[in-house]
Formats: sequence, C-alpha cells, structure tokens
Amino acid sequence: MDVTKIFGSNVFNDEVMRKRLPKETYKVFKETIDKEIPLPAEVADVVASVMKDWAIEKGATHYTHWFQPLTGSTAEKHDSFISPTAQGGVVMEFSGKQINKGEPDASSFPSGGLRATFEARGYTAWDCTSPAFLKEDGAGGVTLCIPTAFCSYTGEALDKKTPILRSMSAVSKQALRVLRTLGNKTSRKVTSTVGAEQEYFLVDKKLFAERLDLIVAGRTLFGAPAPKGQEMEDHYFGQIKDRIADFMKDLDKELWKMGVAATTKHNEVAPSQFEMAPIFTTTNIAADHNQLVMETLQKVALRHNLVCLLHEKPYVGLNGSGKHTNWSLSTDDGVNLLDPGKTPHDNAQFLLFISALIKAVDRHADILRRSAANSGNDHRLGANEAPPAIISIFMGDELTEILEAIAKGQKATSKGSTSIKVGVDTLPPLPKDNSDRNRTSPFAFTGNKFEFRMVASSASISGPSVVLNTIVAEALDEIATRLEKAQDIHKETTAIIRDTMKEHGRIIFNGNNYSYEWVKEAERRGLPNISSTVEALKTFTDKKSVNLFKKYKVLSKSELHARYEIYLEQYIKQINIEANASLDMVRSLYIPAVIPFVKELAETIEKLEAVNVSADVQRKLLKQVSGLLESAYHNNEKLAIEQKKAHGITDSFKRAEAFRDAVLATMNVLRKDIDALETIVPRKLWPVPTYADLLFKL
Ligand code: ADP
Ligand code: MG
Repeated sequence: MDVTKIFGSNVFNDEVMRKRLPKETYKVFKETIDKEIPLPAEVADVVASVMKDWAIEKGATHYTHWFQPLTGSTAEKHDSFISPTAQGGVVMEFSGKQINKGEPDASSFPSGGLRATFEARGYTAWDCTSPAFLKEDGAGGVTLCIPTAFCSYTGEALDKKTPILRSMSAVSKQALRVLRTLGNKTSRKVTSTVGAEQEYFLVDKKLFAERLDLIVAGRTLFGAPAPKGQEMEDHYFGQIKDRIADFMKDLDKELWKMGVAATTKHNEVAPSQFEMAPIFTTTNIAADHNQLVMETLQKVALRHNLVCLLHEKPYVGLNGSGKHTNWSLSTDDGVNLLDPGKTPHDNAQFLLFISALIKAVDRHADILRRSAANSGNDHRLGANEAPPAIISIFMGDELTEILEAIAKGQKATSKGSTSIKVGVDTLPPLPKDNSDRNRTSPFAFTGNKFEFRMVASSASISGPSVVLNTIVAEALDEIATRLEKAQDIHKETTAIIRDTMKEHGRIIFNGNNYSYEWVKEAERRGLPNISSTVEALKTFTDKKSVNLFKKYKVLSKSELHARYEIYLEQYIKQINIEANASLDMVRSLYIPAVIPFVKELAETIEKLEAVNVSADVQRKLLKQVSGLLESAYHNNEKLAIEQKKAHGITDSFKRAEAFRDAVLATMNVLRKDIDALETIVPRKLWPVPTYADLLFKL
C-alpha cells in the first residue's frame, strides 16, 4: 500500500485545485478562504464545474451538503448531478449556486424552537475552509461531500459547525491583539488546533446482535462481571491481534483516502478497547474529521463482522471511553503559542497565553464541564478511571513553581536555577515536556498543548472546542486590553501573570485527581463539582454563559436556549430508551429464562423427598433464585411506573431530573437482581451472551 498515493486521494485539496483550477480562479478562491469572505458567484461556478469533473472522474454520481445537526451525528441528502436534455438524455451539471447553498427540508432535525414550523427549511452554506471530499459506500457508490454549515432562515445556527467557525474568529482576533502588543507585526491569523484521540470498543457482530441493550442503547444494561477484567493490565498497548490489525489497516486506508491523518493505533486499558489518533489540524477540520472517524469506525467494523461501540461506558466495572481533545493555538506563520520557546520574548508570550488558559478555565470551569456532559459520560466521570467531574489544570511542578514565584514577586527559576525575569533576562528554556504526565487530570498541559480528557467518546468535539476557543478569547481580550494600555509591557506581563495566579491559581492541581482528598480539597478551593449532565446543562442558560457567548458572537441567547432544550430532551430520550430496553429484556428474556430453572428445582425437590433423599441444596438454591426473581419482577414493575410518572412531568428540567433520580436509579437496582441471577442460573439457560463472551471472544 503506497500511503503517499492513497492519502487525500478522495479530497478536493489544494494540490488538486492548483492543478485543475484556472490560475486566476485559484487565486481568488484562496483569498476568499484566507479572508473568510463569501465566494464571488463567477468563481463559485468555475470551482463547482471543476469539482464536478474531478468527482465524476473518480466515480461520483451524486453530491451532498454534508452537515452536522444538533443530533451529534452528520446528515447528508444525496442529489445527483443529472440534468435532463431536450433530447431525452441527461448531462451532468453542478453550479456555483448548488455548491454554495442548499435548502434541505430540515423539519425533522432538532431546532429547540429556533425554527418556526412555517419555516421548516434549513439552509446550508459551504465551509470552504474544510475541503470537499468523496465518500465511498460499500455498494460502490461515490458521493461528493461538501462540508457545510446549517442555519435557520434567520441565520441562527442549527448545527455544530457554525459556532466552531464563529469561535475560531473570536479567538483569532483576541490572540492577534495580544501578539501585536508584543511587537508581532507579521502574523495575520491565529488558528485553534485540535487533535482528538478516539477510544472505542469492538465486539463480535453475532454476539452484539443478541444483546438488545447494545443494539438500542449502545451499552450493556445488564451483565455480571467476567471472571477476568482489566486487572492484569495485559491489554493496554498489548500486541494487536490479527483480526483487529486487519480491521485497523482497513480503517486507516479509508480514513487516509478522505485526508484524515490517522497516525496512532493501540490496544486500550479494557479488554476489547482500542484507540486511534490523527495528527492535529485546524479545529473545524478536526471536528469534521472526527465525525468521519466515528462513522468510518462503525462502517469498517461491520465489514469485519465486528461492531464498534462508541459509547462512553459500554461495560460496568471496566474503563469507559473518552476522547482526549488536544488543543492549542498557532499563528499562520507557524508558531505554536503554547510552546515555551527559547528566548525571553518567547517566554513572555508563552506565559501570557498560559495565563489566559488559567484564567479562562477557572472562570468557566462549569461551562467546560458541561461541554463534556452526556448521559453516557455520567457513568464515566468521577468513576475512578476517568477524570472526576471537577475541572482542574495539571501544569507540572516546574511550570507551577515558575508561575507561583512570579506571582510572589520572587525571582523565578527554572531547572538549573538561573533567575528569570519574564521577557528581560536571558532565560533558561522553560520545561519542554512534562515527562511524568499526570494521567488523572481532566485538563493537562502536555508540553505544547492542553489535553482535555473529559470529552465524551461518542460526542462531536464541537462543544468542547467552541467552549475552549470562546473562554480563551475572553481571557485574551482582557489581557490585550491591559497590555495595550501599559507603559511597560514587561512589567505589565509580570503583573498579569501575578494577578492571574492570585485570582485563578486555585484551578492548578498537580496531584492525584482520583483521590478522595482532592474532592475535599477542591471543595475547599470553591471549585465546582457538577456530577451529572442534567445539572451541567444549566450553564447553557445562566447569565455568565449567555453574556460570554453573546459578547464574542459565538452563540446568541436564543441559540443557547435552543441547545439547552435539545440536550435536555436528548438526555431524557436516551434514559427512556434504556428503560424501555430494560423492561423488555427483563420481561421477555430474563424472567422466562429463570422460570424453567425454578420449576426444575421444585420438581427435583419433590422427587428427591419422595425417595427420602435430602434436597437441602436444591431448597437453598430455590429460595435464592425465587427471591431474586420476585425482586426482579417487582423492580421491573416499579421501573415501568417510574417511567410513566417521569413522562407526566411537563417541566423539561424536572422531567430530566426524574429520569435521572427515579428511572435510572430503579434500573440500577433492577440490574443487581438480574446480575445476581446470572451467577446462579445454569449458563445454558441464560438468554444473552455474558461479559466474558462479549469481551474475550474477539
Ligand atoms: P500523547 O501526548 O497523548 O501521548 P501525542 O503527543 O502524540 O500523544 O499527541 C496526541 C494528540 O495531540 C495527537 O492527535 C496530536 O496530533 C495532537 N497534538 C499535537 N500537537 C498539537 C497541537 N499543537 N495542537 C493540537 N493538537 C496537537
Ligand atoms: Mg493523550
């Protein structure tokens, strides 16, 4: 496999455009992308026609505006290029108008009240900063995909791409202001970059098909622990089995074709758990690519008779899956602003941007926490294998000491104890890499970027990226304002670092985030500990959040409210589906499987006693099994009642609370009965594959 030939072969990328577009068109097109201005109609026509020819040569028959509605997945409606001729045949056509805008009937996508029913249409607009690409389906069909934003008639965002683009502009503008005060005259743009590591589970397709819970809810709602879990630590980075290697090879190839720079793959901590990571890119492309990664993982898995589980917690008692979202800022002339650098000037810049992060994350820890919230992640965060629900920053001891020394007005020293005066003296290089990385921190500085580890494995990275860009834009705005007014930039830089540490230094924690002591300590520091999605979602509508997103023109009040309603509904629907599946499995699988065993025991007791043989063991078993059976029956009926009650609550927030506190809570009690029965009832009578089957038979 010649990777250099495969990579990007299905992407209408710069190389293709340079080769195929007329010189003048290419120039104007590049400028529009650069300056983020609308594409002139004549140019759009030429681009569309060239794009169409390229796509058709590669087998495409259809095109689609590929967008990301608030469901969290992607949407596409395929239209063919055909246009009838007077002679009764067809020609293949694609105009600038078609490339730029689409008007899918969007009445079935969630809008949270943003779209009145009389205006069912949604409007899509091409994000030309993310290149068009071809998607191949398993049936040999090829479709030209145009990454697009999706808005209502009045321009309100109905999707996950629009706010990314807006937040990227916001952070670029404020970062440039800071850079200008530091004497940077050359950078024209600052881009937020993201590399999203994707964790996932694989399960055999045949076994998956026998688990209704996995099929409809993506996680096991029942299942006693297997005799072996992850305690031997033999899966993490272990040798990749041939069947999996085969799958991964296929996955890489499909992703490379679409220009996704998949680079890392390995076994994860839990049995049957894996990870892939791409090379980072600009945030909007990274978000598009992560959607493609999730989609392709599932598609390719099926080809290998596997099913890919993206759920945050498919199995109780084992590690769940997250999506480490690595985030940084870099200038268009290639400087990573979170890279310590070697000169005093670089250091001042670095420490200012680090200060912005500290300020932003401390002030908006609640919003950042919310960006990782979904019903799946509620099982994971704070469960001793994933970051707790408390946001803190891991900065590493050395960097923390430097920041604290500056805050105290002391001479800061880096290793080797040369004194530091930010931006004035010749500095020893700041620590480049934190070799002893703290794996327990939810938000860790990892040498030249931050790694946000709370993010939900099944979710779009849009939410966390938008939040990071926006909260950092605000912090940079304030820093820039101070610097612009300052007489002495160096003094002011030191003052900014000092003030940041005084006001926001509490967010830094380099210890063990999994420990009970940290929960107590965080409480003492006044850091928020938001344990569930329902609580977390409140931050969509509180004043602080509305003001922030409005000020930087990322999301309006009504857009935030719409998201709040949509995500609350999603939470309720997800728990409701889980409850439905629980009820169904208990009634139609588990109870019917246990009854014959009860009967068999009762008959055996009768027969044994008729011939005067002790039936003690059978009696004990019978008592145990029928006790559990009764409890399961009772709890299942209770679940149905709680579900009905919850549905009856009109206020959506209170309804969501009831689904969490009554419905989900009853499901958990019910599960205990069923899991206990699983350990007693003969294996041959058990109606579904066990954890051992699901986890160790790959
Ligand atoms: P880890 O730190 O998790 O061991 P890597 O250092 O290879 O692994 O990085 C993990 C992810 O972070 C990769 O997707 C990588 O491309 C991404 N990454 C590296 N540098 C940056 C950056 N400047 N901005 C955003 N993501 C980055
Ligand atoms: Mg990582």
